[in-house]
Amino acid sequence: MPASSSDPHASGAVPCSGRVRAERADTVAIVTSERVRQALVEFVRERDWDQFHTPANLAKSISIEAGELLECFQWGDEGDDARVREELADVMTYCMLLAMRLGVELDEIVVEKLAVTAEKYPVERAKGRSAKYDAL
Ligand SMILES: [Mg+2]
Repeated sequence: MPASSSDPHASGAVPCSGRVRAERADTVAIVTSERVRQALVEFVRERDWDQFHTPANLAKSISIEAGELLECFQWGDEGDDARVREELADVMTYCMLLAMRLGVELDEIVVEKLAVTAEKYPVERAKGRSAKYDAL
């Protein structure tokens, strides 16, 4: 199953309503809504693609799509907005599919991991620094 910028498994399932700018980051819903989850389930069901969505295939697809997202910035810090949106949607789509396949809630695992990361990066040592936790 090829995964490219025109990958039908990942495109079209996540509607975008505008460029996410840094100044809006606090007001943008990042994690999936029930509406998006249902649209994605229906999209896959109609095409009988669930049979291809093993955890390994989905994990590979996340990495492939992340590479395509990175490619948007290959030759500069400003990526084409439309292409960045498409690739970000592809990454998120495969993340949602993998979470559903594994039976985990994205909100829950992100919050759980954030707590682990907060332990590694206490505010008093990490604030304003980009160093790895073992170099703080
Ligand atoms: Mg893509």
